[in-house]
Amino acid sequence: FTEKARVQVNPLFVAGRYRKLVRDIPQSKWFCSSCRGRGCEKCGGTGKMYPESVEELASKPLLEAAEGEKTLFHASGREDIDARMLGSGRPFVIEISKPRKRFLNLKNLEAAVNANAEGKVEVSGLRFSSKDFVRRLKKGESAQKEYRVLIDFESEISEDELRLLEENLSGILIKQQTPLRVLHRRADLIREKYIYEVKVNKVSLRRAEMKIRCQGGLYVKELVSGDEGRTKPSVSELLENRAKPLKLDVLNVIMDEQSKVKCR
Ligand SMILES: [Zn+2]
Repeated sequence: FTEKARVQVNPLFVAGRYRKLVRDIPQSKWFCSSCRGRGCEKCGGTGKMYPESVEELASKPLLEAAEGEKTLFHASGREDIDARMLGSGRPFVIEISKPRKRFLNLKNLEAAVNANAEGKVEVSGLRFSSKDFVRRLKKGESAQKEYRVLIDFESEISEDELRLLEENLSGILIKQQTPLRVLHRRADLIREKYIYEVKVNKVSLRRAEMKIRCQGGLYVKELVSGDEGRTKPSVSELLENRAKPLKLDVLNVIMDEQSKVKCR
């Protein structure tokens, strides 16, 4: 017998939801653009653009407890690095390869992750999951999302104009050409995304807060700015008033099993 017995260890899948409470942490580990992870002067030898990520904060205690080889982080879409992820959080699955231990105390691990990442990232509802659920997560990327964005206008705004925005942006398809800011990593094409509902509240003479419930994958910052005419219609275009997104929060990621939620 020359053939060696190959022991295949199935990965371990742990699902949950995460909230990101700050604006400067990326979802996934982001390698340094100069050294691509080896470590250089620019990144202070860490090999990373940012010291922490949701992925690392959530995965590390699990990897250690399972005594696994490495982890993969799967999520239902992602927010921009400067956007918070609030509400009940975004669904994710951590895939741990070659775990030596499979019976983890997820309640304790959840508490450990949250204590370590306090004020930055919060995980909830940790449970054992499967490859199949990862597939469903990926499919659900276009599921409904709810956002809140603070908008700064070049000129003063009136209540009538805000009502006009609500009427003209609710229940329509937005045509969005790949935003200039992501053009370097995504193909240049036009996507159509549906907006279910828009609510706008005036905050001050030149500021308003807009809540949007839409199909996942809509670029909300560009819906506001218009992205030099690449997103149509846009807030800037509709009001003929240059609009700039200041702060963006994801309020809700609505999975299939959840019933339809209205903007509050
Ligand atoms: Zn580097």
